[in-house]
Amino acid sequence: METTAVRNGDRYIINGQKCFISNGSLADFFVLYAYTDPDKKAKGISAFVVEKDFPGLSYGKNENKMGMRGSVTSELFFKDLEVPAENLVGQEGEGFGNLMQTLSCSRLFCAAQAVGIAEGALEYAVKHAKNRIQFGKPIADLPSIKFMIADMAAAVESARLMTTNAAKLFDEGEFKKASVQTAMAKFIASDAAMKVTSDAVQVMGGHGYMKDYPVERMMRDAKLTQIYTGTNQIMRLVTGRSILGM
Ligand SMILES: Cc1cc2nc3c(=O)[nH]c(=O)nc-3n(C[C@H](O)[C@H](O)[C@H](O)COP(=O)(O)OP(=O)(O)OC[C@H]3O[C@@H](n4cnc5c(N)ncnc54)[C@H](O)[C@@H]3O)c2cc1C
Repeated sequence: METTAVRNGDRYIINGQKCFISNGSLADFFVLYAYTDPDKKAKGISAFVVEKDFPGLSYGKNENKMGMRGSVTSELFFKDLEVPAENLVGQEGEGFGNLMQTLSCSRLFCAAQAVGIAEGALEYAVKHAKNRIQFGKPIADLPSIKFMIADMAAAVESARLMTTNAAKLFDEGEFKKASVQTAMAKFIASDAAMKVTSDAVQVMGGHGYMKDYPVERMMRDAKLTQIYTGTNQIMRLVTGRSILGM
């Protein structure tokens, strides 16, 4: 992170830029993280609430993405962006803790999104398998299709249970435990979504590959859940470190 915020009387002056911000050019309000003291590294990060019409905020392009095309992903630029000091969230230097908790929560949303995508693909594949007649019988009669559907259903169910378990810890205020459970739920659910959506395309054969049906979109959308809110490699790193007490 290179964005900086310098206090000037009753305002902060922010300079820098952000990329890949979901709904960035549409949001009326957003939370921005910047260095108020870069030498202190993580302890020098602060959070600010920024409003769309603050002077010094401008937008770059909206990205042309593989999937998740229902949501815009934007570039934001801050050139002497003026933010009232009262828009500082908490105290100066507390931004990193705030960011970690926010990230943990957004990983939970990502896991839930992955469960929803996978479930939608499974439902579509099941419907298709029952209706598609090949060689005089529904393809659902074929053992290879039954096994694929069974594996897809088991993956959705395990992803759902892990996501629900992590959400429960959040509700109980167990944020430390929740952050590891959420990291695990995020990589299990998003890997499940990728596999299940790809298998849904397979169950539907050539039809699955066509844009006339929703499963190819679900497969493209699922890919993002393995990447954003922290890649699955980072989720495994967080989980491994925690279990090993590092
Ligand atoms: C559509 C979209 C929407 C997004 N929305 C937002 C948003 O609203 N707000 C926001 O802040 N960000 C957002 N992001 C950013 C997103 O969180 C990052 O793209 C993501 O965390 C990966 O970071 P990176 O792109 O810098 O990849 P890199 O860090 O360059 O990673 C490249 C590869 O290297 C691996 N890698 C990197 N470091 C390590 C390591 N230490 N150990 C092991 N492997 C490693 C990664 O796993 C990956 O495979 C969005 C991204 C996309 C694509």
